Amino acid sequence: MAENKAIGELFDLTGKTALVTGASSGLGTRFAETLAGAGARVVAVARRKDRLDGLVERIAAAGGEALAVTADVTDRGAMAAAFDAAEAQWGAVSILINNAGISGQKRALDITEADWRAVLDTNLDAVWFNAQEAAKRMVKAGRSGTIINIASVLGFRVATTLAAYAVAKAGVVQMTSALALELARHGIRVNAIAPGYIRTEINEAFFSSPAGEELIKAIPQRRIGTPADLDGTLLLLASQQASGFMTGSTVVVDGGHMLISK
Ligand code: NAD
Repeated sequence: MAENKAIGELFDLTGKTALVTGASSGLGTRFAETLAGAGARVVAVARRKDRLDGLVERIAAAGGEALAVTADVTDRGAMAAAFDAAEAQWGAVSILINNAGISGQKRALDITEADWRAVLDTNLDAVWFNAQEAAKRMVKAGRSGTIINIASVLGFRVATTLAAYAVAKAGVVQMTSALALELARHGIRVNAIAPGYIRTEINEAFFSSPAGEELIKAIPQRRIGTPADLDGTLLLLASQQASGFMTGSTVVVDGGHMLISK
């Protein structure tokens, strides 16, 4: 009979260092707390220092370990410094959560070059360069690792006013596969989570509007998600014991949203 892993061990991240971008709010905050709860040492990266400090305090109060690093994900130098800070404290990062993102809602005919660049810089270019930075450091340290990119159902679907966002997220899905293919030989797994609508600051106002309420009614589960709905998928992909043979996957977590016609 195959050897069974104890359930507790399956998602145990003790001794791992995880870097989470966009950790100052929404999903990023939840990801940081969930990883810390599973035993990882968390490097919380974002631009808002006060909010990161609050997160680090909450993690410490719950018995975990976290470090706040202020950086803009589009600034390659600042991100390299964030990885340096993580290494100085705990050694090489072995879990990267590429989460920071913006929505930049505008109708297609009104999107300026600056609007387009802002969304693509944050949601696509930064995801690539941060994954590459993490992978180079894992290879150099001779350590295996896992990269989790946060895509979206809009990597597969489209929605009005979100053209740039959908293009960037489709790129993240392809990037996940392309990186997985090349990094497998180094023991680095690359997967993505494609959430459906999850209530956070990025969309709070919309989902409280009549149009948002209509959209919720169209979702098969008749609800939008909460950040906690992603806990299990995050831990699955973060844990080598749980998903060691998974790479190049984009896992959709959406209450059935992908099943409705466009
Ligand atoms: P959010 O606005 O609450 O959080 C986004 C985080 O990214 C914030 O902490 C923000 O400060 C940070 N960020 C943005 N630009 C940054 C930059 N240049 N440098 C550093 N940090 C930056 O939104 P969220 O809902 O938590 O979104 C997190 C991720 O999940 C995003 O990639 C988003 O596209 C994706 N997503 C969200 C949903 C949803 O319904 N909430 C659905 C699918 C995908």
